[in-house]
Amino acid sequence: MNYEGVLTKMKTENGSPIQYYLVFENDFLNVNQLLDKKVSINFLKYQCLNCRLEKKIYRQGFCYDCFYEIPQAADWIMKPELSTAHLDKEDRDLEYEKGVQLQPHIVYLANSSNVKVGVTRKTQVPTRWIDQGAHEAIEIVEVPNRYLAGITEVALKDHVADKTNWRNMLKNDIKDENLVEWRDRLKKYVPDEAKEYFIANNIETNLEFPVLQYPTKLKSLNLQKTPFFEGVLKGIKAQYLIFEDNTVFNVRGNEGYVVSISVG
Ligand SMILES: [Zn+2]
Repeated sequence: MNYEGVLTKMKTENGSPIQYYLVFENDFLNVNQLLDKKVSINFLKYQCLNCRLEKKIYRQGFCYDCFYEIPQAADWIMKPELSTAHLDKEDRDLEYEKGVQLQPHIVYLANSSNVKVGVTRKTQVPTRWIDQGAHEAIEIVEVPNRYLAGITEVALKDHVADKTNWRNMLKNDIKDENLVEWRDRLKKYVPDEAKEYFIANNIETNLEFPVLQYPTKLKSLNLQKTPFFEGVLKGIKAQYLIFEDNTVFNVRGNEGYVVSISVG
């Protein structure tokens, strides 16, 4: 079987285990069904996810020009504390910013290699946790807009990590943590503006990734240097494909790359 299209991050469906899908214009592929099969990836060309032109991808699936222009790639995406729609203040496109920022947001603790704090729209739970490869996570604050989530995250960063060690996450070099205890310990650091939104009574969510065999050391596949790769798929975790020879491929990191994928 042969599939072709521009890579975008895999769609997911929570379950035991999580189901992963590659969505192309004319093809829809359940990646779990490729486990234990020989899969090849062939890089064909670039296609910016915004302008769709064949321009080199700069970041997040966008070409350089789009990345510095469109509201989907503004700074407040990665730094929620920079959100200003709640003040009616435009960054790149107020209409768009209101639509995304002025909706319920969650501040969570997730454990993928260590406990970290993060922010996501409420509609993105548990998708966001799956994308990060967290095996456990818990919502700790639910606020009405992105700004409040952002300043809460910034305040908590002084007391808990905000980064994942992706190598440990992929090697499954992890330990279970009691996230309820973490939440209770961090409660006092939630800023005053967000204290009333603290969630005191929920429990952690556990996630199960479809991995048959974890890599022992990692080789990252870079399609610019290695435009053709073939290997037996042994697992899917976060947005990574894990192959038998310890090669890992970050699908999200290659958004905007047009590839053909062959199976079997
Ligand atoms: Zn573009």
